[in-house]
Amino acid sequence: MKSIVTVVGARPQFIKAAPLSRAIAANGTFEEAIVHTGQHFDANMSDVFFEELGIAKPARFLGISGGTHGAMTGAMLAALEQAFLELKPDTVVVYGDTNSTLAGALAASKMHIPIVHVEAGLRSFNRRMPEEQNRVLTDHLADLLFVPSAAAARNLAREGLPAERVHDVGDVMFDAIRQFGQRARSVSSVLARLALSEGQYVLSTVHRAENTDDPARLLTIIDALEMVARTLPVVLPLHPRARAALDRAGRWPDRIRVVEPVGYLDMIRLEGAAAVIATDSGGVQKEAYFQGVPCVTLRDETEWVELLDCGWNTLAPPTDTVAVAQAILAARERRGEGDSLYGHGNAAPEIVSILSQHIR
Ligand code: UDP
Repeated sequence: MKSIVTVVGARPQFIKAAPLSRAIAANGTFEEAIVHTGQHFDANMSDVFFEELGIAKPARFLGISGGTHGAMTGAMLAALEQAFLELKPDTVVVYGDTNSTLAGALAASKMHIPIVHVEAGLRSFNRRMPEEQNRVLTDHLADLLFVPSAAAARNLAREGLPAERVHDVGDVMFDAIRQFGQRARSVSSVLARLALSEGQYVLSTVHRAENTDDPARLLTIIDALEMVARTLPVVLPLHPRARAALDRAGRWPDRIRVVEPVGYLDMIRLEGAAAVIATDSGGVQKEAYFQGVPCVTLRDETEWVELLDCGWNTLAPPTDTVAVAQAILAARERRGEGDSLYGHGNAAPEIVSILSQHIR
């Protein structure tokens, strides 16, 4: 059997890997070993996803987290090279745009192991974002690029990547929500636990460096959410990076309902029942659309441009507190259009079928 090594490390990658791991197991052509870099390691940022999504225990846990981007990526590069020497993969699969993605692609590339990039082709056109650096470099190292949208395919064509490497299969996060949405509705008790009523609250997440590393932007977001909370309850499952930034800023919100990061089933339940979602997360923007909930993106730009075009999403750059609060409250009445922007929820089996033609 041909062997696949899947490199994951951060929360969104566990969610993206789950449907593909399932499809790999169902297909039976490959055996998969998961290498977890350790970038996210807390129980509520890592273990809960393996449990809830039924992902196999990692074959290697590298325990690398924190530090500067260079130190973290460098340590991962060395450790992944060693892991690949031991596991001898026929191909390496990486997801998205984190330091784990780039380190996995670079280590594999230097060892001449074919690289598969899932969620390829996204661009914010903002090279200051660590995610943009990681995704551009990974796309150019990859042998097979699976894009979630037509816009992502166009981005790769514009950068001169050969069309035969690029496959528009849709978004594996759509597969994930289709597989787990019903289960979340039946088992998650999060609304009761947080005493929330369906359609009567705003859900927010904040984690991007551009917002957490800039106190002015972070406090604009917090002040705007505090303002919204005068009208509607606001729930904020707080990412550890944002928590640390709020501690540094010495500003703890008092109206917003700040909770620990939640598991995937609670999260998609919280999203689906929200009146509006206000976020800087990539994944959460799409999950809002998948569940028909209007979204306000707390950034200057987004990679998921089709969501702006079809009206499900608007940008609210966190530079003006009142404008952000108004955008969130106004979004309650907004509905978008647009069907199947990210495929049909069968990206993972399509990826496996294409892999079985390429990796022989
Ligand atoms: N998520 C979660 N619990 C939370 C916040 C987010 O399960 O408390 C999930 C969310 O449903 C989505 C993914 O994490 O599937 C998004 O990850 P994140 O926002 O960390 O990264 P990004 O998508 O911006 O890369």
